Amino acid sequence: MAMAYMEYCSNCGEKNSEMFVEGRHRYYCNHCDTVHYENPKPTATLICPKGKEILLVRRKYEPAKGFWCLPGGFIELGETPQMAAIRELKEETNLNGNIEKLLGHCSHFNSLFGDVLLLGMVMKIEDFSIMQPGDDAEDVKLFPLNNLPVLAFRCHTEIVEMYRKEIS
Ligand SMILES: [Zn+2]
Repeated sequence: MAMAYMEYCSNCGEKNSEMFVEGRHRYYCNHCDTVHYENPKPTATLICPKGKEILLVRRKYEPAKGFWCLPGGFIELGETPQMAAIRELKEETNLNGNIEKLLGHCSHFNSLFGDVLLLGMVMKIEDFSIMQPGDDAEDVKLFPLNNLPVLAFRCHTEIVEMYRKEIS
């Protein structure tokens, strides 16, 4: 999978090779002399509390289809973490909110999407009554913080732990 996705140069379309550049092997194009740097993809991953409950989303698609996870998703080009958080929350749950606090970060290496850098954030939700699952969510629901289901991703569990410490 790793080979296929960087097989061709995104700059000129010729075939990439590999070269040792700045401390590691990287995809490199001989034709246009481009080094293809790769970086983790950042996400906004959200803790949305309501009293002693937090909001979870049931995943409709792979990876981890059918499992519950924290709302959130990848930060798009041109977006701040705050913008991505607001957009993803709206898309997945129909809710409106704002970032209250940056909790911390967690790295997930070699995921289906490559390396992912998750930014855990606490969101303040204005009104939970308009909650409904979006297109890529099977369900959305509030769960008691002390009785959560097994979450889809290790980093989501770690971000929940950061939140528990934050409020304890
Ligand atoms: Zn090239």
